[in-house]
Amino acid sequence: MECSKVKKSSQNVRVAVNIRPLLTRELLLGCTDCITVVPGEPQVRIGSHAFTFDYVYGNMGSPSTTIYDDCVAPLVEALFHGFNATVLAYGQTGSGKTYMMGTSGEGSNSGVIPKVMESIFKKIDSMEEREEFFTRVSFIEILNEDVFDLLGVDSSSSKKSEEAFLAKPVVPERVPLQIREKKNGGIKLDGVFEAKVTTKEGMKLQLLRGSLSRATGSTNMNSQSSRSHAIFTITVEQKKIAHIGAGGDISCVKLHLVDLAGTERSKRTCAEGMRLKEGIHINKSLLALGNVISALGDEKKLKDGGHVPYRDSKLTRLLQINRNPVAAEMQRMRSQIEQLQAELECRVSCERCSEL
Ligand code: ADP
Ligand code: MG
Repeated sequence: MECSKVKKSSQNVRVAVNIRPLLTRELLLGCTDCITVVPGEPQVRIGSHAFTFDYVYGNMGSPSTTIYDDCVAPLVEALFHGFNATVLAYGQTGSGKTYMMGTSGEGSNSGVIPKVMESIFKKIDSMEEREEFFTRVSFIEILNEDVFDLLGVDSSSSKKSEEAFLAKPVVPERVPLQIREKKNGGIKLDGVFEAKVTTKEGMKLQLLRGSLSRATGSTNMNSQSSRSHAIFTITVEQKKIAHIGAGGDISCVKLHLVDLAGTERSKRTCAEGMRLKEGIHINKSLLALGNVISALGDEKKLKDGGHVPYRDSKLTRLLQINRNPVAAEMQRMRSQIEQLQAELECRVSCERCSEL
């Protein structure tokens, strides 16, 4: 959250607030909205406090655009221009994260993830033949700083149809995965299953498989899902066949779609023992996430090669962008070009002044 007096966040990080409608149960209990939206402004008010974001949706009639159109569709487009991206759903349990992301894998296609799947395959289908695309998905869960694979190496169920799979779902073994650093500085999750998918239906089935193993990992689905972070990652590999006889060029980009653990404080939920320990891990990783977002949002510091504390939690390590030497060099060159541009503009205006 950002105070209205603070400058809007940079383009690296954008924040949208989605206010879910009151549920029937809440209406029956006589609950009322405590949050109001300032008309025409991406601003919300709670009592006398105002908070400004990049976008605000909900409780103000039907908006002309959706959170997907404004915030996620440009990221899908950027994937095809070689950019990695991450979408995070943050909020306390019951605020609508899973509904908005569509992470439960069930029912409507209106969640962010089903729409992403739709757009990716629409885009690939519209591409010229000489570019070959390969898509893979992984689905993992972080619970108590342990990383679990929600898909597992079960190739037989990944080939089954949705109906056949639902009739006899196979839940992968829950063995924590290890994070390793690659020689080029990138991050690798040892032994994670990446399902190759060629259609949006195939991708949806993987989402469903993972959601089911997330749900069956505990006797109480809601409490389990609210205490763990779920990361659905779509990898798009593009092999450009340059010339016949010449070597091709491969680009590999990732879109992470994250349904974070509930942000409620352990004090307020009166948690004890195991639950308290989980709460501490959740708060620690959300704090680490906040620090990484702050560092990424500070363009000036980033340009000067500022430190991004990815290593402070498993969540941030897994979402880490591979800041290889080439990227660092490009960053340095970009800042030099900007300085040069500023210098040139200054000279041109001085010359004009002296001409006058
Ligand atoms: P969270 O994942 O943050 O704990 P859920 O996504 O499970 O929250 O949402 C809590 C409840 O609110 C669910 O019953 C869900 O169906 C409902 N809900 C959430 N967002 C909306 C929405 N935009 N419109 C209608 N119902 C919603
Ligand atoms: Mg949820």
